[in-house]
Order: sequence, then structure tokens, then C-alpha cells
Amino acid sequence: MRHTWQERFAETPDVLKNERRKQTVVPVLDIAIGGSSFVTMAGPCSVETERQLMATAHHVRRGGARVLRGGAFKPRSSPYSFQGLGIEGLKLLAAARRETGLAIVTEVMSEHDVPLVAEYADILQIGSRSMENYSLLEAAARSGRPLLLKRGMVATVADFLQSAQIVLDNGNPNVILCERGIRTFDNALRNTFDAAAIALLKHISHLPVIADPSHAAGHRELVPALARIAVAAGADGLLVEVHPHPDKAWSDGEQSLDFAEFDEMMASLDPYLALRSPAFREPANALLMEAVK
Ligand code: PEP
Ligand code: MN
Repeated sequence: MRHTWQERFAETPDVLKNERRKQTVVPVLDIAIGGSSFVTMAGPCSVETERQLMATAHHVRRGGARVLRGGAFKPRSSPYSFQGLGIEGLKLLAAARRETGLAIVTEVMSEHDVPLVAEYADILQIGSRSMENYSLLEAAARSGRPLLLKRGMVATVADFLQSAQIVLDNGNPNVILCERGIRTFDNALRNTFDAAAIALLKHISHLPVIADPSHAAGHRELVPALARIAVAAGADGLLVEVHPHPDKAWSDGEQSLDFAEFDEMMASLDPYLALRSPAFREPANALLMEAVK
């Protein structure tokens, strides 16, 4: 028997497209995520020093990024690794926003930290390891800030949508889905980049979808190719790790692009973005406008 997508994902009705809602556009400062422009979020895995963060912020802004990423609270696989600068990191991110005008996305790991992180960040990142932490999702949703929800590394698409549904249920419509690679039998790369999930999510959900090629690949030389695949699959933007000296990074240096590599990757996306027909989106936006009126 053939099921419709509505039937297949019946447990998460509000994240699915319907007649009234074809595309959610998440407003962040003057940026529209899920709108007609492709939004790049770039920056270091972790905020380390003022110098590191400011240099990166200025560079990625010149290269076309609209959002600065940087972890202040870090979910590290080892308890002996650098855990992030905490509030000092948040203050540096806010200073970088003042200096560059970039919006800030940073992870919140605990429900107790939500008010603090929401004071500094424009977008709260829910990490892969936290995707099923429902009390964190509820607290983050209620902060009113847009959420960047990363797919759990062992989450199915249905599990992922379930977490998004919980945020919507808690009164926050501004959810950005992020595919960052999943665990499969293949351990050649850090994770398996699920480009098909991007295409599927764009097909069935009205929520914006962005791709994180950095955590999917785990190796910087693969990041630009995965970014181009994400564009072709219909992603609304990218979350990518960039560091002035990746070899000296305090976390995720292997997968971080240096400045020249970031510029090269951005330039390489242009022909793929040009191939995406604006007509693909226009009906959706027109309908959304109708719904808003
Ligand atoms: C990150 O964005 O630096 C991060 C920790 O990502 P993830 O939660 O996808 O592992
Ligand atoms: Mn990282």
C-alpha cells in the first residue's frame, strides 16, 4: 500500500508542508533563513581568543557569510578535552557581532544555561548530542530565539522531525533543521553525510534546512564537495567551521577550513547556486505571503 508523506510522518503534522504553509522563513536580524538567499554560517568550532574570533568574523563576513558560529559551551566526546570558554566566549561573540554586524549562533547544552545564552546569541544551537533532550528543547523553545536543531547522530528523519515538532508545540515556529551527518557502518569519514535527508526534508517540511559539511566529513579536504552537494540537494544554507590556523585549533581542527579554503569553497558554490531556479521558490514564498496577509 502506498502511503502519503502526511501519513508516513503523521506524528509530526505541524512540521509538514500544507496548503497554507509551504516555507517558513526564519528572521534573524536582517537575514531571512529559508528565504530566497542562501545563508552561510561560518566560524570556529570553539571560541578560543578574541584575536582568533575577530579575525575569523571579519574574514567570513567578507567572504559572504551572514552568521558567525562559535562554541562557548562545547559538548566534547572526551571529558579531558577543552570544554569551551563559557560566558567569556559568549561575550566575545557579542563583541564580534558589534564589530561586524554578523548574527551569532552558538550552542546551548543545558536548560539551565538557556537564559544566559539567549541573552547573547541570535540563534540557539541544539547540538547533535542534545537533539532528544526534551527539557532542553522546551526551555530553548520558550526563550523565543530561533533554534538551529542539529540532527542526532543516530536519529532517523522521523526522530529529527519529532524534536522539531516539540519546539513548535512549545510556541516557537522558528526552527532551522541541520543535517550534520549520521553514524552508519561506514567509518571512512567522521559521519555519513545524508544528502538524501536534505532533499527529503525540503520536500516534506516547510522548515528551513541547512547543511553542516564539516562535522559530516571530519576532514577539511572533503568539506567543499559536501557543501556543493548540499546546494544541489536544495539546502537553504550552510554551517561550516573556519579557523585562522586549523592545525592549532583547540577543537575540530582537522575539519576546519583556513581562510583561503573558505574563500575557494564559497566561490565554488556559485555555479551550483545559479543552477537553482528562483521559480522553485517563488510559488512557496508567494503562498506564504498570502498566508501572512
Ligand atoms: C559543533 O557544531 O561544533 C558541534 C559540536 O556539532 P554536533 O553537535 O553536530 O556534533
Ligand atoms: Mn565542531
